[in-house]
Amino acid sequence: MRALIYQGPRDVAVRDVPDARIERPTDVLVRITSTNICGSDLHMYEGRTSVEQGTVLGHENLGEVVGVGRAVDRVKVGDMVCLPFNVACGFCRNCERGFTGYCLTVNPGFAGGAYGYADMGPYSGGQAELLRVPYGDVNCLRLPPDAREKENDYVMLSDIWPTGYHATELAGVSTGDSVVVYGAGPVGLMAAYSAMLCGASKVMVVDRQPDRLALADKIGAIPVDDGLGDPVEQVLDQTGGEGADKGCECVGWQAHDPDGNERPNQTMNNLIRSVRATGALGVVGVFVPQDPQSPDSLMRDGEVALDLGLFFQKGLRMGSGQADVKRYNRQLRDLIAADRAQPSFLVSHNLGLDDAPDAYRHFDNREDGWTKVVLNP
Ligand code: NAD
Ligand code: ZN
Repeated sequence: MRALIYQGPRDVAVRDVPDARIERPTDVLVRITSTNICGSDLHMYEGRTSVEQGTVLGHENLGEVVGVGRAVDRVKVGDMVCLPFNVACGFCRNCERGFTGYCLTVNPGFAGGAYGYADMGPYSGGQAELLRVPYGDVNCLRLPPDAREKENDYVMLSDIWPTGYHATELAGVSTGDSVVVYGAGPVGLMAAYSAMLCGASKVMVVDRQPDRLALADKIGAIPVDDGLGDPVEQVLDQTGGEGADKGCECVGWQAHDPDGNERPNQTMNNLIRSVRATGALGVVGVFVPQDPQSPDSLMRDGEVALDLGLFFQKGLRMGSGQADVKRYNRQLRDLIAADRAQPSFLVSHNLGLDDAPDAYRHFDNREDGWTKVVLNP
């Protein structure tokens, strides 16, 4: 089959690789029809991780079931399914409690499993023609009959919409809250969109990329351009000097200061300063190394400067981590099915698999108009 593989920093290519196939009785085989490029792929692309050469990337996948193992009974050949990026068993202590992002069976002791990702288990990615889905009954979200016509919407259920939603859940966003979101990438836009759906009274989105800020504006949020001045001051101005009730971090390692210097701590401390005393923060931007035990991990350690003094003084609360996609994806799917939500508003490109290496380059450069790429193998 054709697949996009990682060859080295900023070097990916489409190659012929052995077909994905059913390996265990609980596996499902999916012919991929939509697979996204994610900001999380850029941690590998830019060489921050220990991902192996030859790994097939791609964890935001949707397609048609073309094979099922003999122990699979819920999912059928012909079903259109979206695949939550977390590979989970469904029966370990964490999965039982809904923390499928931290499955103890597929990746014991650390951050759960994922397709095509560094240090998150041996699972090949879906930027390919076929994908093997382990524990298929657990890891396939079946889609309604309108799956084909709303594919650009449903594929966002694999990661970024539940992740953006998770940020608002971690921060405890509720009706009438004012919310500040750092980062207007796909995840930040999905957090802002979720906050709007949850009834926030005011949502502010901080970034400096005009095209992304324009999308924030389009969904009814207030764009805050940190190229025009201190974003914290702008958020305080918008909130009568008090700060936002809740805040979401949707940038992670990629954080830059207004001069373009890489500063991973920038957004956390801005967030602490932007949220009012006793407020709460949801942190979904990726800061942590995927495998602190791995001696050859190239990912820098997860330490960032954090103004814990101010965090404490303001009595803030915080939640963080990988999104437990399954926890949210049925409800979010049903909003799409009911025409109450269209997360596809951020899709900028639908391209073929052969276009993937170019698309990685454009998306990595954050080029104007390259917000979210969906590959259609
Ligand atoms: P992205 O890189 O496309 O978007 C990041 C945005 O942040 C960019 O638009 C950039 O201009 C902006 N930015 C950079 N520095 C900034 C600063 N100092 N202040 C404000 N904005 C700033 O990536 P994405 O796909 O939106 O993903 C965002 C983060 O979420 C990544 O770290 C990704 O790994 C992470 N992520 C986490 C999960 C999870 O489960 N927790 C899932 C998916 C993605
Ligand atoms: Zn992703």
